[in-house]
Amino acid sequence: MKIDHLINGKQVPGRDYFQSVNPATQEVLAEVAAGGEPEVDAAVAAAKDAFPKWAAMPAPQRAKLVRKLGDLIAAHVPEIAQAETNDTGQVIAQTGKQLVPRAADNFYYFAEMCTRVDGHTYPTDTHLNYTLFHPVGVCALISPWNVPFMTATWKVAPCLAFGNTAVLKMSELSPLTASRLGELALEAGIPPGVLNLVHGYGKDAGEPLVKHRDVRAISFTGSTATGNRIVQQAGLKKFSMELGGKSPFIVFDDADFERALDAAVFMIFSNNGERCTAGSRILVQQSLYASFVERFVARAKKISVGDPLDEKTTIGPMISQVHLAKVRSYIEMGPKEGATLLCGGLDAPLVPDRVKKGNYVLPTVFADVDNRMKIAQDEIFGPVACLIPFGDEADAIAKANDIAYGLSSYVFTENIGRAHRVAAAVEAGMCFVNSQNVRDLRQPFGGTKASGTGREGGTWSYEVFLEPKNIAVSL
Ligand code: NAD
Repeated sequence: MKIDHLINGKQVPGRDYFQSVNPATQEVLAEVAAGGEPEVDAAVAAAKDAFPKWAAMPAPQRAKLVRKLGDLIAAHVPEIAQAETNDTGQVIAQTGKQLVPRAADNFYYFAEMCTRVDGHTYPTDTHLNYTLFHPVGVCALISPWNVPFMTATWKVAPCLAFGNTAVLKMSELSPLTASRLGELALEAGIPPGVLNLVHGYGKDAGEPLVKHRDVRAISFTGSTATGNRIVQQAGLKKFSMELGGKSPFIVFDDADFERALDAAVFMIFSNNGERCTAGSRILVQQSLYASFVERFVARAKKISVGDPLDEKTTIGPMISQVHLAKVRSYIEMGPKEGATLLCGGLDAPLVPDRVKKGNYVLPTVFADVDNRMKIAQDEIFGPVACLIPFGDEADAIAKANDIAYGLSSYVFTENIGRAHRVAAAVEAGMCFVNSQNVRDLRQPFGGTKASGTGREGGTWSYEVFLEPKNIAVSL
């Protein structure tokens, strides 16, 4: 199979190709066009040409096309989910039931929303001020590999619905499903040039895209290191930076134990632990610590690791051998730093023959973790849980905030005052109280500190994809 760029509605062959590999089997899934500056220039030019007509299209008409794209995704869920699972190792139970259906919802939601963009009025004695929201122009949309289809649509849907045009660059590790998205966009009747795709490596294709002078806004999801580089290289543009995380999951001794346990297991081991909002630092109050650790480990040992195409599998392979080596290096580091390895570790899991060459790691649990250890401070981005004891509320907050990141947070307590106090005190873009991460498309999604700037979702997406203009009329 060959995957080419999509520029101005046409498949454009690569000058060079690289291989996309199935992380469960190591089989080559596709030869993918490796783009660079010439392809980026052509794609940005196509997006710039398509912009005036697309922006001027009445919102209800644009909404119809965007909704149609949602319908086409909904009609192809099994096919897209299987491709996503093969390309990323994310288990089919997640891609088929959650991630790909949610991608269709992203289009339905923003199709509706673009017909409801309103403004503000600020009347004074002498002037009537009012606000118009205009689309920004050509947007660079850059996606990571962990849940690529959902992340790409989370950007493409508001970008297009609000009247912008786009150049989408997927991670070189997971380009398959976005290429299908490009085809479906054309099938939905979205005009050529409105959504363009350039494949390739970050340095070759991503860098010229973010530097391009005709790109007006960048919506980037990826690591903090790359986000920093982009901000330095891109010049004056609108930014949304959705970066890494190492989120605290705080359990007080008055919490609903079973509920906290379920959510803690889910937030570190779902999506293979390759999840930006993972509750990877599990802070448990000292009085509850021993019993929580015991039950947590018992649950971790029961998690099924195996073929990601099997509905019963919870953890599939890591995205790449390089990433597997990174995760393993932290598992090796834990005991050296003084943490206690309670399950998992470096042994290879037993998996079916079909996937025996996969990039597997066992769900791993470290106890007696000190919040200053590297395994507690760095984003491992794999199924590795760090269980950290704390004393009182002040200690929980101090430990939660003693970290470079600030993406998500989780608080479990039955004390309503404490729930609100801790939720307010935690330095994070999001806090879930007595709950795992549950998304509503109206919520502001994003982080603070090293986890990024800007928020996306609902009217928060205006910040990136719409330009407010104030008009002051003298009375
Ligand atoms: P990455 O930063 O290595 O790559 C992300 C994307 O940026 C890829 O498409 C890559 O090709 C591109 N890129 C690399 N260098 C570039 C450059 N110089 N200029 C422009 N583009 C460049 O991240 P990754 O390893 O693909 O993804 C994992 C990271 O993403 C984790 O840190 C995770 O927390 C983060 N993430 C964040 C969120 C969020 O919403 N905050 C969601 C998912 C993943």
